[in-house]
Formats: sequence, structure tokens, C-alpha cells
Amino acid sequence: MNKTENQMLVIFGASGDLTARKLIPAIFALARDGYLPENFVVLGASRSPWSDEEFRENVVTESKHLREKIDESQKKMITGFADRLFYHELSDDQDSDYGPLKKRIDSLNSEHHTDSNYIFYLSTPPSVYGPISKNLHQQGLHKEDEGWRRLIVEKPFGYSLETAKKLNKSLHQYFKEPQIFRIDHYLGKETVQNLLVTRFANSIFEPLWNRNYIHHIEITNAESGGVEKRGGYYDKSGALRDMFQSHLMQIIAFVIMEPPLNSNAEQIRDEKLKALKSLRVMTDPKVLHDNTIRAQYISSVIDGEKVKGYREEADVDPESKTETYAAIKFFVDNWRWAEVPFYVRTAKRMPTKVTEVVIHFKTPHHQIFKDAGMSNKDNKLIIRIQPDEGILIKFGVKVPGQGFKVERANLDFYYSGLAENHVMEAYERLLLDAMQGDATLYARADEVEAAWAFVDPILEYWKNSDAKVHGYSAGAWGPENADSLIDGVGMWRN
Ligand code: NDP
Repeated sequence: MNKTENQMLVIFGASGDLTARKLIPAIFALARDGYLPENFVVLGASRSPWSDEEFRENVVTESKHLREKIDESQKKMITGFADRLFYHELSDDQDSDYGPLKKRIDSLNSEHHTDSNYIFYLSTPPSVYGPISKNLHQQGLHKEDEGWRRLIVEKPFGYSLETAKKLNKSLHQYFKEPQIFRIDHYLGKETVQNLLVTRFANSIFEPLWNRNYIHHIEITNAESGGVEKRGGYYDKSGALRDMFQSHLMQIIAFVIMEPPLNSNAEQIRDEKLKALKSLRVMTDPKVLHDNTIRAQYISSVIDGEKVKGYREEADVDPESKTETYAAIKFFVDNWRWAEVPFYVRTAKRMPTKVTEVVIHFKTPHHQIFKDAGMSNKDNKLIIRIQPDEGILIKFGVKVPGQGFKVERANLDFYYSGLAENHVMEAYERLLLDAMQGDATLYARADEVEAAWAFVDPILEYWKNSDAKVHGYSAGAWGPENADSLIDGVGMWRN
């Protein structure tokens, strides 16, 4: 295991939802499991007028998010943990705030011996990523003369290719690329990382992982919930920006990439970049029309309860065209994947919550058991990313008895059966990696731009054309016509 050096984590947006719900519980889990260095403090910063004590109460001692994650025996640790947390109030006048902030960082550093190693975590609205970085730079907090400096940036990273490029350019003015860690919490999930191990640590899958044996690949991200309280944010974003451009593109890259030379961050990220650049970008309106589908959930009754349609949700424009369902068919233009169709869909208000990659293998060329019940959909490898993380292989077996009758059998592996200890949550894993300077599971500037380059023309087409916004009943598997995308290869229904 890499060494975790003494350090300070400065969280901008310390009074926000992410800090309370994910970051502090993740840091607590790292402390509980002995991953934190001897000298470690958190300095929260935001505009809420809190004292150190109020910050500790809000995110630790009185926090329901933390309490629901710990058992009786761990409650004793809470006070000691809270003592490592500090808070600094910023005002709206950003620039002049940073001198006092620097002084606070300096004094905590000398008092707690954090060796001038700082991580700055930007958990604020994206509009202030640039200004905060600039102010840190002006205070010399980017310089690595003594100790190291890292900047973690939350998603969304840009709103389009142009804005992502602008943001990269702006951050690069103040921090060097190796100092910047762009977080995508899907990469912190064990099962997403396991995609690499499944592919590159075994000799049984990789020889089949290409156009010669794979008929098509299907990736589904279904959420059973609606937009909940995030209507205002979601209406400006939509399924393609919120899920596809970030999380699903990362999964796609892991599924299609070539084997890296080794498991170093740069080798893996170089291969991911190459993979994302090989996606066939769709620009022709006819191609976009035939290969993309957007839809919104409409009011329906689920388990006897009426559920609102998307346009009736709070803070959503009643005439909104924002998609809560996106299904995209595309191809990958390289030697391995030429002409293999990929079907990727992401949606809210589906019948269940599931994220999975399904590899559909081709039918054997010569079928001697064709009439014995073997179907052309029998060979599948299903990688379940959530929930019930694991791997399922579906294949045909002989039914005992005279003659040959074939039935489908499952080889099912549950990831939870493997971990003797607590399986780290995504934010725990990613924070620990950043503390140790390992950027393997963080997105690089060029990767993010390559992902946007694929998604941008689809968004432009949806915005500027009269591409239909279909409807689907809340609780159903999307609009009926989405099956037309996948027709010819089977049904797109669970
Ligand atoms: P919130 O709106 O709950 O919190 C935003 C935080 O930023 C608040 O603490 C706010 O505090 C602070 N803030 C606003 N302006 C400034 C500023 N100028 N300087 C310093 N702090 C400021 O958002 P979330 O916590 O939900 O999200 C934070 C980031 O994480 C966003 O970029 C979001 O997209 C991303 N994210 C969030 C997820 C989640 O589950 N919540 C999931 C994935 C990504 P104050 O008003 O006190 O200054």
C-alpha cells in the first residue's frame, strides 16, 4: 500500500450537502480503519457563519448521515475525530478572503504538523472552481516548494465541450495537470475497477473480447427514483450530461480500452483516452435521429401511489424538453470493435435501480443444438455494477435425460462474498487515492474533453432540432420506440 503522508484537507463548500453526506463520513471511515496519517486535519471553508464547534456539530456529532453509518462501538471515536475538524468562514468578497484563509492554513499546519501537504477539495457550485483556484494561486498555495498541493474538482466538469475546455484552461493557469484530480465517483466503485481486473488479469475473457466473438454490448443505468429535490439542477442538465457524459463514458472506456502496459495511472489513462477518441462521433442529423432517443417520465401509479410526471416536479419548467431518459446506439471505430453496436441507456423512474454491462456473445457459427432449445441469446456476460455487485455468466447446459435438450444456466458471483472486511465506499477509496497522490481513478483533462466531444453533437442536435421528446410512464422501462434502436439484436427490456 502507498504511504499516506501527513496532510491537511481543505474543503470548499463545507456547509453543503456533499460534505455532510459523503465526504465527512468517508473521512471518518478512513480514520476508523486506520488509513489516515498521524497528523491530519480537515479545514472546512464556506460562507456560512460557523465556528469550529458548529462545523463539528453539523457534520459530525449531530450529523444523521454519519450516525446512520456507524454502530454503537464506533460512537466513542466520534469526539476524537471531530477534534481534527476546523472551520473558516469566507465572505462573498472572495479575493480579500484568501489572505486570512492562508494565515489559518499556515497556523493549523504549524500547530498540527501537517508538513505543508494540502489537498484543496472544491465541493462548491462549479461556477466558483475558477475563482477559488485563482485565489489559491494568488496566495502561493499552488507552489510545491515545501510539501505538495493537490486540487480535487467535483463533477460536473463543464456543461459542454467548450465550457469543459474553458474550465481546463482556467485551472491550468493556476495548477499543473498532475496536481488536478477530477473526481467521478463511479471510478471509486469496486465493480467498475473490477472491470479492468476481469479483463486483464484473466486469460479466459480477453481472447473473446472483440468483434469476432461479441455480437453487441448493452450498458444500462436505471434509477427507480425521480429527480427528487434536484429539479432545478436537473432541468438544466438532463440524463445525458448528468450520467452519460461522466459515469457512463468512464465505464465505456473501461469496457473498450486496449490493455495498458501496466497499472500506472498514466498508462491506464492513455488507453482510456485512446478508447474515447475511437468512438464514432455522430454529426449527421439523420444518423443522430436514427441512433438517439430522449424521453421524459410521465405521471403514473406505482404500487398504488400516484407518481408525478417530470414536468410536474418542483423547479422543473412545465414545458421542459430536458430528458430523464437517454438511449444511444453507437459504434467504435477501431480494429477491436469495428461494426459492433453499443447500446447505452440511462434513465430515471425505471422499474428498478440497476447499473450493468451486458456482453452479448455471438451464436456458435455451426449450431448442432439449434433445435434442442439453445437460443441465440444464451451466451452473456453480465457485469453488475450496482446493486448486488458481481458477475453473471449465462450459458447453455444439457438437461439431464435422454437426447439433447439445452437449457440456460447461470454462474453467479457476488462481490460481497469476497470482501472479508468492509468494502470501501467510492468516496473513501477516491479520497484515500488522492491523499496518496494516485490519480489512476481520476479523469485527466484530455479524457474529459474526449468524452464531451462525443456527447456535444447529440446535445446540439436535441437542442436545435425538432427531435421528439418521447414520454414513458413512470415505473416503466422507457418509451416503446426505444426498442427500435436495439431491434434485430433482441429486446431491450429486463
Ligand atoms: P450544495 O449546494 O449543497 O453546497 C454547495 C456548497 O458550496 C455550500 O457549502 C456553499 O456554502 C458553498 N459555496 C457556495 N459558493 C461558495 C463560494 N463562493 N466559496 C466557498 N463556498 C461556496 O451542493 P452539493 O454539496 O450538493 O454539491 C457540491 C458540488 O459537488 C457541486 O459541484 C455538485 O455538482 C457536486 N456533486 C454533488 C453531489 C451530491 O450528492 N451532493 C454528487 C456529485 C457531485 P455557503 O453558502 O455556506 O458558502
